[in-house]
Amino acid sequence: MTIFDLQKRVAFITGGNGGIGLGMAKGFASSGATVVIAGRNQTKAQSALSELRLLGAQAEFVELDVLIEASCYRAIEHAVERYGRLDVLVNNAGTSVRKPPEDLTAQDWHLVMNTNLTSAFLCSHAAYPHMLRAGGGKIINIGSMMSIFGMPYATAYAASKGGIVQMTRAMATAWAKDNIQVNTILPGWIDTDLSRSARQQVSGLHEKVLARTPAQRWGTPEDFAGIAVFLGSPASNFITGVAIPVDGGYSIQG
Ligand code: NDP
Repeated sequence: MTIFDLQKRVAFITGGNGGIGLGMAKGFASSGATVVIAGRNQTKAQSALSELRLLGAQAEFVELDVLIEASCYRAIEHAVERYGRLDVLVNNAGTSVRKPPEDLTAQDWHLVMNTNLTSAFLCSHAAYPHMLRAGGGKIINIGSMMSIFGMPYATAYAASKGGIVQMTRAMATAWAKDNIQVNTILPGWIDTDLSRSARQQVSGLHEKVLARTPAQRWGTPEDFAGIAVFLGSPASNFITGVAIPVDGGYSIQG
C-alpha cells in the first residue's frame, strides 16, 4: 500500500456527475476507490459512470438534491448502507447567479448560499458519525477564486465561497481530534458547464482569464484528479483547515 492508495476506500462526491466533480471522481477511481457520484442529472450520471467504470472502478450514482436537507442525509446513508463505510466526502455541488448586488433577489441569494455553502455543512454533518466510527475521514470542500477576490456580479457566490473557507477552518479545528481532515480546494478558471455559462454572460471573460493566468490556459476537470487523491489519501494526514489554489498561478499573479 502506498500513501496515495485508496483501495477499499469509499469516496462520495456531490455533483460528481460532471465538471470538476467528475475530474476528482476519476482521480479516486484511478487510485482504487469505490466512487459514489451524487446529483440530479441522470443523463450526465450515466455517462460519468461509464467513464469511471472504464478506469476499473466500482462506481454508483445516487440521486441527490442538495437544496433538500433530507436528501443530503438520505444520500449519505445510502452510500454507507451499500458499502459499509464512507472515507472521503467531496462537497462540490455548486451554482451561480450572476447579477449586480442591487438586482439580486432574496431567492437568488438563498439558492446560491444553500447550494454552495449550506449543503456542504449538511453533507459533512451527515458524514461525521460514520467517519468517527471508522476512526477518521477526509472532507474536501470546493471554494473558488471568489473565496479570495471580489467580482461585481458575484455577491452571493463570493459570500458562499468565502464561507466555505471559514467553515472548513472551524470544522477542521473541531474534528482534528477525530482524525478527520477538512480542507478546501480553490479552483481557478476551469472549463466546465458552469464557466461556459459565465463566458456567455460576461463579455471578455475568456480573454481576461487567459491574460491573467500564468499557465496561459483555462484549467480542465482532469487538473483536479491529483489534488483529490492527495487530500483524500493518507498522504495528507497532517494537513487540515487549509485552502489550496489549483489555478495555474491565477491567484499569485500581481
Ligand atoms: P458544473 O456545472 O459542471 O458542476 C456543478 C455540479 O453541481 C453539477 O454536477 C450539478 O449536478 C451539481 N449541482 C448543482 N446544484 C445541485 C443540487 N441542487 N443538487 C445536487 N447537485 C447539484 O460546474 P463545475 O464543475 O465548474 O462546478 C463544480 C464546483 O466547482 C462548484 O462548487 C463551483 O462553484 C466550483 N468552481 C468552479 C469553477 C470553474 O471555473 N468552473 C471555479 C471555481 C469554483 P446536476 O447537474 O445533477 O444538477
